[in-house]
Amino acid sequence: MKNTLSILNVPAFDDNYLWIIHDGKYAVAVDPGDADAILAALAQHHLVLSAILLTHHHADHIGGVPALLRHAAVPVYGPANDNIAAVTHALHQGDSVHLPELNLTLDVIAVPGHTLGHIAYFAPVQHWLFCGDTLFAGGCGRLFEGTASQMLDSLDKLAALPDDSLVYCAHEYTLSNLRFALEVEPENALLQQRMIAEQAKRQDGLPTVPSLLKLEKQTNPFLRSREAAVVARLLACEKIPALQDDASHFAALRVWKNHYA
Ligand code: ZN
Ligand code: FE
Repeated sequence: MKNTLSILNVPAFDDNYLWIIHDGKYAVAVDPGDADAILAALAQHHLVLSAILLTHHHADHIGGVPALLRHAAVPVYGPANDNIAAVTHALHQGDSVHLPELNLTLDVIAVPGHTLGHIAYFAPVQHWLFCGDTLFAGGCGRLFEGTASQMLDSLDKLAALPDDSLVYCAHEYTLSNLRFALEVEPENALLQQRMIAEQAKRQDGLPTVPSLLKLEKQTNPFLRSREAAVVARLLACEKIPALQDDASHFAALRVWKNHYA
């Protein structure tokens, strides 16, 4: 019998989403920045923690790990190149994680940019993407450690995943991201529709995450930096002096966003 897996959205802090993947009995926590929030969700759903998955070293993603390990001594999967003390299984690009309790396999994708070691997890059967602070709904993470060129390569890898992949990012930044997206592509009809739909979700107190990768490719400017309309807008708004290479266009878009909101 094939088990059915579900995903719980666990809000934490101001705008973080922690994720719990479970089969009704066992649970895996993704980026548990806040142990209390995870423990409350586990208790509420009568779940046993069996592993922790980390995408990168920032405190809002790993802060709950010590307390969770005091609660249950479980394996901690995380990026080999992000120096996280609690990690027991250090992961690289191309690695595959098998979580036997859930009969779940996840492929590891190196996505440097936000941090240098940042990784994403992709479930090739379910088409779930856990991408931390790399790809956001309508946006992308800030470049704290990596270059624009690295981030563009990382986003290209994620954009190559199947269109029906669900993007489980780690923050509810969608509306402010889409405000910027509309500044970049005011004529994009799918983007205009998306803004209305996502605003309605937020007004109803619903998360906008996960989002569909196909919709990200249609509306997220950071997946669209090679589109003629986006490049033309960068020129028209004097964000670039003249046509340059793809990475420079992407870099200009990221800098514009940093100053926009
Ligand atoms: Zn972060
Ligand atoms: Fe974060």
